[in-house]
Amino acid sequence: MDLEMTAEQRQLQRLVRDFAEGEIRPAIRELDAKEEFSYALTSKMGDLGFMGLMVDPEHGGLGLDPLSYILVVEGLARVSASQAATVAAHNTLGVGPIARWGSKQQRERYLPDLCAGKKLWGFGLTEAESGSDAGDSRTVAELRNGLWILNGAKAFITNAATNITAGSTVQCATGVSSGGKKEISCVLVPQGVPGFTVRTMHGKMVWRSSNTAELFLDNVRVPEENLLGKRGDGFRQMLETLDSGRLGIAAMALGGAQGAYEEGLKYAKTRKAFGQTVASFQANAFKLADCATQIEAARSLLYRACWLKSTGQSFAKESAMAKLFCSQVFKLVADHALQLHGGYGCMEEYPVATFYRDAKFLEIGEGTSEIQRLVIARQIGCFE
Ligand SMILES: Cc1cc2nc3c(=O)[nH]c(=O)nc-3n(C[C@H](O)[C@H](O)[C@H](O)COP(=O)(O)OP(=O)(O)OC[C@H]3O[C@@H](n4cnc5c(N)ncnc54)[C@H](O)[C@@H]3O)c2cc1C
Repeated sequence: MDLEMTAEQRQLQRLVRDFAEGEIRPAIRELDAKEEFSYALTSKMGDLGFMGLMVDPEHGGLGLDPLSYILVVEGLARVSASQAATVAAHNTLGVGPIARWGSKQQRERYLPDLCAGKKLWGFGLTEAESGSDAGDSRTVAELRNGLWILNGAKAFITNAATNITAGSTVQCATGVSSGGKKEISCVLVPQGVPGFTVRTMHGKMVWRSSNTAELFLDNVRVPEENLLGKRGDGFRQMLETLDSGRLGIAAMALGGAQGAYEEGLKYAKTRKAFGQTVASFQANAFKLADCATQIEAARSLLYRACWLKSTGQSFAKESAMAKLFCSQVFKLVADHALQLHGGYGCMEEYPVATFYRDAKFLEIGEGTSEIQRLVIARQIGCFE
């Protein structure tokens, strides 16, 4: 196993760091306070190639490997979970399935603008009544006279209701499979089709400047060729998309943990109590030592999962482990970092408060920690 970064990956890491420090950090506090999605930052991230990182250059992407993708998400999340969420969701949930299973026409039609960051695309899996139980889609699609007719609703869909969203991949039940279970398929639903409405969900505790939306489908008609891949493949497509998506969420957790740790260390080295810095009390120094150690362990787990993916090996178990562990580490580190800030940690003026809130969600999004444990337990043969 070779975990040494290439010169290009180091350069990319520096580029992301400079961008996050120079462009995101000055803007993020106001965006988060107003719960405002940033078109300006999204456009700049598109210009840098962040919106189609792993897509073939033939379709406008950068054609990078999984670790390079992870380095971008990690570097953004070190400063802002919301901006990292926009990029991670767009790459793995929005663009990824179209690049992987889309027809030639679908790829040619959608990918260039999506990879350039001129447009965004959502991935509609979760519904108000089913999230973890992703095969229990109540949104239905019926094929009639060459048209898919969709009815239902989706909740919590990232990037689905911005002014530049071009559409969403909607997972729906298209019948009953031979085993008697719901036949699940994915259909591409462009924005603006009659009967398709989207509504931004406000009042989020986390990812406050990322767009999260509800989708409503009321007799939405789209051509038969809007099916993604084969009919009945939707559940498998969703599972495989989430295997990759988990690496992105793990990277968000790792980057967030790094950012929170840096805030905690910086504050603890300057804040004084009883005539000495807070960091110099052994109780606090040990907290920081634990944070640094946990972050390194999380990084090794995640980078190894990326290496498995990039070398074509199975990585479902390792991506679930990385997502589970990195999100736990983020929560622990954010907790310690906030504790080190004392009362000021509870003020929005300090970035640690945002890290503390955002950390919680990474134990929920793209499969809760319980679901990660289920995936891992299945992989290690517990249920045979
Ligand atoms: C900001 C944000 C962005 C999101 N973006 C997207 C997106 O782009 N696309 C999308 O499709 N979804 C998105 N989601 C939804 C998210 O992925 C789900 O909220 C998550 O998967 C959990 O589903 P749920 O909310 O329905 O919880 P539920 O499935 O109702 O779970 C409730 C609780 O029960 C537990 N539980 C459920 N089943 C089991 C089990 N078998 N064993 C043990 N415990 C179990 C869960 O772990 C959890 O603790 C987003 C959510 C948010 C808040």
